[in-house]
Amino acid sequence: MSTIRILSDRVANQIAAGEVIERPAAVVKELVENSLDAGATRIEVEFRSGGRAYIRVEDNGSGMTRDDALLSLERHATSKMAETADLDRLVTFGFRGEALPSIASVARFELQTLSVGEEAGTEILINGGRFVHVRDCGRPAGTRIVVSQLFNAVPARRKFLKSDATESAHIIHCVRLYALSSPQAAFTLIEDGRAIFRSPECHTTAERVAEIFGRQIAEAMLPVEATEAGLTLRGLISRPGVGRATRHEMITYVNRRPVDSRTLSYALIESYHELLPKGRYPLAFLFLELDPAAVDVNVHPAKREVRFRNESQVRAFVIRSVLDRLRELGATVQAVAPVAGGEAARAWAPAGVMPGLGPPPESRMAAPFPAYRPPLAAPAPVAAGAAVVTAPRDEALRAKTGWRYVGLAHGVYALFETDAGVVLLDRRAAHERVWYERLREQFATARVATQRLLLPVPVELDAITTALLLDRLEFLQGHGFEIAEFGRNFFRVEGVPEWMDPADAEAFLRDVLGALREGLLTAKDLDLARDELARLASLRAVRLPEGTSEAEMQALVAQLFSCRQPLANPIGKPTFIELSYSELARRFQR
Ligand code: ADP
Ligand code: MG
Repeated sequence: MSTIRILSDRVANQIAAGEVIERPAAVVKELVENSLDAGATRIEVEFRSGGRAYIRVEDNGSGMTRDDALLSLERHATSKMAETADLDRLVTFGFRGEALPSIASVARFELQTLSVGEEAGTEILINGGRFVHVRDCGRPAGTRIVVSQLFNAVPARRKFLKSDATESAHIIHCVRLYALSSPQAAFTLIEDGRAIFRSPECHTTAERVAEIFGRQIAEAMLPVEATEAGLTLRGLISRPGVGRATRHEMITYVNRRPVDSRTLSYALIESYHELLPKGRYPLAFLFLELDPAAVDVNVHPAKREVRFRNESQVRAFVIRSVLDRLRELGATVQAVAPVAGGEAARAWAPAGVMPGLGPPPESRMAAPFPAYRPPLAAPAPVAAGAAVVTAPRDEALRAKTGWRYVGLAHGVYALFETDAGVVLLDRRAAHERVWYERLREQFATARVATQRLLLPVPVELDAITTALLLDRLEFLQGHGFEIAEFGRNFFRVEGVPEWMDPADAEAFLRDVLGALREGLLTAKDLDLARDELARLASLRAVRLPEGTSEAEMQALVAQLFSCRQPLANPIGKPTFIELSYSELARRFQR
């Protein structure tokens, strides 16, 4: 009952051929994919010397009959597809039927396999593409492949390999990727006789992440799940403020296949752009599922890169799902510190803390950020580090918070107590967030009012900056500045936006010019330029109130929580930190 078919030449040619095996990790990838395709629930990977001396992949999958085993080593022999149209329905990792023959042609290749129900297993040995023997062997159902002396016969290829340590890092990364995408299978990874990880079957991706990346990373992540119009996204994303210096920890999958996708990584970066400082990247393990026909996995021979038929739909969906989750977290964090109701629930003190900052407008800026809504009722307190509680939301509670003001520490940190713990609010960061959103709103909806300066501020610039300024003068004038050119490279600031302290005018203008030089106030994208202007202003040029009375602190919290993103200031620093009583009890060893 042979299930392997030979692809016709026509089909074979339609599938871009290419170098499948470029380094030891590519061997591991192909073999592990085959094991998963064979339905294995236990996969063991062992390698030595960065994989060039020895790689063993052993599974308890379907195994192969002798005929199939022999056929599997023929070029374009695959049991996984028969026609080009099948490419649109791919549910397996493999489809080219190229991996085994390619590997066998550049290494010593030993295969042992037993298909369930067969009496004897099959052993096949091939050395550098030359057939050595086929014979019976005893083994349990499943397949074991040992690849040794990789590239021995191809010195040119061998020369391109990096150090053992580098090759080994690639292998480890590769096995982790697949272990993550298939938590239901037990994985073992052994390097030079030492176990890198042993992960039993797991129920969730989060468990698997904890197993192979460590508890700490697992706890810094939030589960995310969303479905919409044939697209499903699930996985784990990092909390705001948790970032990495490189993009390598944004790990993405499409239909369980680990992929490199600009669409997905840009969507992630974009979702976090206010939540992480510049140059930091989120961590993520994201699984996107969609109709295989809507994605092209065949653009790269090693199949890491994918293209979506509808890039913008995928991008918008991912951004929306991630942002929704992060915003929900805002609700949750507040929910961890809920109010008991009754006398503890105070009405918001009237504003007055922030001149000109009225109640938050109901209509927020355009999607994808709907307005933040505080939770309705106090959910049960959550244990420290425990998963997230989603709270129901209600307008009636907008006027209340569970935070009871205790006092101000160090002139900076407002301390609140709640029924669930204590909260430390960074006053400055909170004001910055509130002002940032306030200004963005203003820029987008109204002309910014100008206050004329009694004494205009003279500014002298170099020639390049002069040109830049002249170029964007209209933009600045549309946003509350009155700047007149008088003389070569000389300007006079005659008016500034009403929210600015005139004493800050020159310093702020220099910030703006700096941003201009860095190309941040681009004329190409008005929204981006406005974001940047609001960011600069909220961080540097907005006068923060002196007052620290209880009413003022309560009002600040109210304003913060009417922001679209209350958790971080405009450059991704946290606005508050909370400690639950259970966490405190743990620390005090109660
Ligand atoms: P592809 O995966 O693209 O089909 P491969 O060269 O990787 O091509 O494998 C060829 C065929 O060998 C597969 O289609 C499958 O039928 C069989 N095969 C390979 N590895 C295994 C395994 N571990 N268990 C069962 N069958 C396997
Ligand atoms: Mg394969």
